[in-house]
Amino acid sequence: MKPIPFSPPRMDQKIIDEVIDTLKSGWITTGPKVKRFEEKLTAYGGHKSTLAVSSGSAGLELMLRWFGVQEGDEVIVPAYTYTATANVVVHCGARVVFVDVKDDFNIDVQAVEKAITEKTKVILPVDLAGFPCDYDELNALVQRTEIKSKFAARTENQKMLGRILVLSDAAHSVGAVYNGKKTGSLTDITVYSFHAVKNLTTAEGGAVCLNLPEPFDNEEIYKYLRVKSLHGQSKDAFTKTQAGAWRYDVVEPGYKFNMTDIAAAMGLVELERYDEDMLVRRKHIFDAYANSFSKYSWAQIPEYESKEKISSYHVFLLRIKGISEETRDRIIQDISDNGVAVNVHFIPLPMMTYYRQNGYDMKNFPVSYDNFARVISLPVYYNLTDEMVGRVIKTVVEAVENNI
Ligand SMILES: *Cc1c(COP(=O)(O)O)cnc(C)c1O
Repeated sequence: MKPIPFSPPRMDQKIIDEVIDTLKSGWITTGPKVKRFEEKLTAYGGHKSTLAVSSGSAGLELMLRWFGVQEGDEVIVPAYTYTATANVVVHCGARVVFVDVKDDFNIDVQAVEKAITEKTKVILPVDLAGFPCDYDELNALVQRTEIKSKFAARTENQKMLGRILVLSDAAHSVGAVYNGKKTGSLTDITVYSFHAVKNLTTAEGGAVCLNLPEPFDNEEIYKYLRVKSLHGQSKDAFTKTQAGAWRYDVVEPGYKFNMTDIAAAMGLVELERYDEDMLVRRKHIFDAYANSFSKYSWAQIPEYESKEKISSYHVFLLRIKGISEETRDRIIQDISDNGVAVNVHFIPLPMMTYYRQNGYDMKNFPVSYDNFARVISLPVYYNLTDEMVGRVIKTVVEAVENNI
């Protein structure tokens, strides 16, 4: 039997046609398709403006830089995430303050509250596996008088906001819903990733969703960020190629974070069919896993729908009750030997060499460790057929029952 891969992208004729159209159009880097993709993303998320960028990581770093995060500042990050979330904070020279997560894999708001100091500039929650964080609680926390009075603004944007910024990492959660609203419009700023393994892909890419409160002008910030994400150049390459428009200026030493029209071409096709097609298929797979595994007393089914929240069904995080990390590893070996690719999302960051050597200790994040030690991420993707889902379930059940 053919092995079942973990997360191949869905690259069908429609995407190929749109990419070829771009290749033949005479314009392949940032241009009209990026602009259209940004407009469609704004309408989709219900936020105020969108800047397409070269990756989710680039989007996160750009926004930390925009807010003026620098040496001496602290940014609160969940211990349980992909390394991009924390690395961008290190790039800015600020200190990463890890906090533990809850049983649902998302940042613990009480732990966030305890971690806030006079140096805290940003909270960076992650909608892990596609399930939105507790945004009502997080947004209320940063508005509280005693929390606001601790906030020491150092830049113009920090003064204007007058409180900690909530910058959410929605790399997994495009299309996830909280109280009837989609990610993008749930916090001040949200960043999507369109990396090849994500729900909606442009091979590499990302987007910054601007949703800043008054008196910020999100359209003006968008224009500024377009320049900042392209070397601080006063004109982009597309505008410069128009006859007579050759002269330009550099207003600051910006970054090279722009998205190409080739990437946007994929994104336009992906976004158009995302809700009716991609999310429907993913939900179907989640439901199939949940229904099958809930028959086993050893299985712990992840929360993916609640009264307030609907997941974007990114990865299915099955946990096995009461097992050790070593047993989990043996189960994964067994599953892999039987031709099914599974994964672990994620190894908590305090366990990684760089962060460990910088003084972070996994003992301080017991829930993150427990989630990690017992988790097996199961494949979820558009082309995973019902027959393949059945094989994944059978293989996992046999591997677990052989090892516990
Ligand atoms: C993938 C991912 C990112 C980074 O996205 P890129 O587009 O690859 O830079 C950030 N955070 C999380 C949680 C991710 O899984």
